[in-house]
Amino acid sequence: MPEFNCDLHYHGPYAGGVSKNMSIPLIAEQAQLKGLDVVVTADSTHKDWLQHCKENLVETENGVYKHEKFNTIFLVGTEVQDQTRVHHLIYLEDLTRAQELREKLLPFGNLDHVMAGRPQLQLNPEKLAEIVEKVGGIVGPTHSFTPYFGVYAHYDSVEKAYGQFGRSISFIELGLSADSYFADLIPENHQYNFFTFSDSHSPWPHRIGREFTKIKMKKPDFNELKKALERKGENKITLNAGLNPREGKYHATACNLCYHHFSLQEMRALNWKCPHCNGTIKRGVRDRIMELAKGDKTEKHPDFRPPYQHLLPLAEIIQLTVGGKDPTLDGVQRIWKEFVNEFGNEIRTILDTPVAELETVHKEVAHSIDSFRKGWVAYYPGGGGKYGAPFIAHSVEELNRLNAEIEKGILPGAIKQKTPQKKLGDFG
Ligand SMILES: [Zn+2]
Ligand SMILES: [Zn+2]
Ligand SMILES: [Zn+2]
Repeated sequence: MPEFNCDLHYHGPYAGGVSKNMSIPLIAEQAQLKGLDVVVTADSTHKDWLQHCKENLVETENGVYKHEKFNTIFLVGTEVQDQTRVHHLIYLEDLTRAQELREKLLPFGNLDHVMAGRPQLQLNPEKLAEIVEKVGGIVGPTHSFTPYFGVYAHYDSVEKAYGQFGRSISFIELGLSADSYFADLIPENHQYNFFTFSDSHSPWPHRIGREFTKIKMKKPDFNELKKALERKGENKITLNAGLNPREGKYHATACNLCYHHFSLQEMRALNWKCPHCNGTIKRGVRDRIMELAKGDKTEKHPDFRPPYQHLLPLAEIIQLTVGGKDPTLDGVQRIWKEFVNEFGNEIRTILDTPVAELETVHKEVAHSIDSFRKGWVAYYPGGGGKYGAPFIAHSVEELNRLNAEIEKGILPGAIKQKTPQKKLGDFG
C-alpha cells in the first residue's frame, strides 16, 4: 500500500499575516518541489478563497482535486477559532461539503471579512463538533499546546473540551513546539493519532511542509484518510516529521517582548511580568506539558505511534553551512535549486539520498546533511514568540561543546544572557 507525504494545514491570503503570494497554483508547484504528495484547500469557509479554489482546481475523483499543471493532490480542510480561543482543524469529503459547512457556520461569525480565512466563531468546541459531524467531517485541535490558541492552554483535557463529542475525536495536531515525545507525556494523548503539519503562512519550501505526516492509504482521499485515523486494515500514519520542538516559538517559558527565558517557578513568582522590560511572560509548551504530565518525563508511547523525524529545512541547512561566505538569499536559493533539480525534491534530498550522491552537488552542504541525519544539531530553544535557533555540529565533540554553551544560556557565537536560565538537561 502506498504512503503519502501530507501537509494538511496552512493558510491562504485571507487568514492575516499571510504572504500575498499564497495561491493554489504556487502552492501546488512549491509542494511538489518540497516532496509533498497531498496538501489541503485551507481556509475553505472563506467565500473568496473558496471561489479561488473552485477556479483553480479540477476534481479528478470525488473530493480529490488537482491544479492542471501539477501532481499535488488537494483534499478539503480548514481551520477555525471558537469562542474559547481554541483553534480546530476540520476535514471534509469535498468542496460541496465545505459550502455546506460554510452555511451552517454563517450564524456564528463573520466568515468573509478580509482577515477571516481562519474565522473567529461564537460557539464552543462541542457545538463546533456537532456541526462538523452533521456535514460528515472530522475535527480535532490544532497546535494543541501553544499558549494562545491551543486546546491545552484553555482545557486540561481534549476529550472534555469537546463535551459529548469528545469520544469521537481521533487526532490532535502537535504544532511546531511539541513532538511525539512531549505529547505522549500526557497519558490522555495515547488514544489520539498525531498530525504534524506546517501551519505555513508562505508557500516557500522552508515553510510549507516544514512539518508533514506520512500516511499509508490505498489512495489519498477523505475516506482513506478517515480509515487511517481509525487505523483500519493497513491504513495508518507511518511517520510524523517536524521541527525539533526547541525550534518552536513557544517552546520555553519566556517574555513576549524581550524573549528572556524563565522557569515556571520564576514566572509565578514574578506574576507573569517580565522584570527586564515589563512584557508578559508566556508559559512555554514544555512547561505546560510538564504540568499536565505531573512531572513524569519517562518516554512512553502507544504501540501504534509511528517514529518522529526531526527536520531542518534544506534552505536552513544551506544557510547554516555557507551563510558566512555567501550571505545573499540568492546564493542559498541557487544551491537549493541545484539539489532539488538533481534529486527531485527537498524531502528526498535531506532524508533519502546517499551522502556520496549529495556531494556531487555541494560537498560542504552534503556534510551538513550528513550531520543533521546523525542528530548532530544543537538548539537554542525558542520562547515568547521567537523561534529557536539550530546549530549544526560536525563532530560529537563540537555538538557537546555547543550543548554545553546553550545549557549555560549562551547563544553559540553571539550574545550572552544576563542571568542563567533553567538548564535544558532538567527537561530530559
Ligand atoms: Zn491556529
Ligand atoms: Zn493555522
Ligand atoms: Zn521582557
